[in-house]
Amino acid sequence: MSALSFRGNSSGIEYTVKVSSRARYARLKMSPVEGLTVVVPTGFDRKQLPALVESKREWILKVQRTFDKHRSTEPAQAETALPEAIELAGIGESWRVEYRYDPLRPGIFIRELDGNVLDLSGGVDNRAWCFEALEQWLKHRAKLKLGAQLMQLASSNGFKLSGISVKKQKSRWGSCSSRGNINLNLKLIFLPPPLVRYIMIHELCHTLHMDHSARYWEAVARYDPDYAVHDREMKHAWRFVPAWFSGAR
Ligand SMILES: [Zn+2]
Repeated sequence: MSALSFRGNSSGIEYTVKVSSRARYARLKMSPVEGLTVVVPTGFDRKQLPALVESKREWILKVQRTFDKHRSTEPAQAETALPEAIELAGIGESWRVEYRYDPLRPGIFIRELDGNVLDLSGGVDNRAWCFEALEQWLKHRAKLKLGAQLMQLASSNGFKLSGISVKKQKSRWGSCSSRGNINLNLKLIFLPPPLVRYIMIHELCHTLHMDHSARYWEAVARYDPDYAVHDREMKHAWRFVPAWFSGAR
């Protein structure tokens, strides 16, 4: 299937659009890995996409809730404390976090010290600033480490990709564009390594086949024989994301 894919966003619902020459009409699919995909026939008027997604909002949110039911039991953002330690299972690192109030420093200054200590100084009495600084640091760390893992996995298995990006996303773990750009969810940094690897293999195999056909899964199985188990585990993988980070900020 020759598929062109691009991303959309309708009132906070993220989705991937795939234009398929074989599709007769537009349809919606939900996957625990990639969230919502809208498959549309060639020539479909893109302006209709927001209304189409909106008309299925309840169904989308219902399926999404079955993927991440653990999240609803988490404390609200207002009650979430700043972390004293950060476990980054996905990249095999563990950090201790220290907060030092310094009225002379505007904003938050964040430094990596020896012994995996993360040092935040400045206006640390401002929780929102601290969360923001930690998120920026995590993004930097994820780009560095997850990016390197993905490059290594690609080059050692002969995959060609044209770009890597890391973003904090609510409903998808990864995506691969028709141009071979792979996007990874920042939250992968908290997941067990076999699941991180599975997501990388899942997306790398989309550089070979843009669909989820039998041929596609055969390719996935070559690089991850346990892919079926891992794919099932992804349905509940949101529970690995710590409450302080998964709050809707
Ligand atoms: Zn996929």
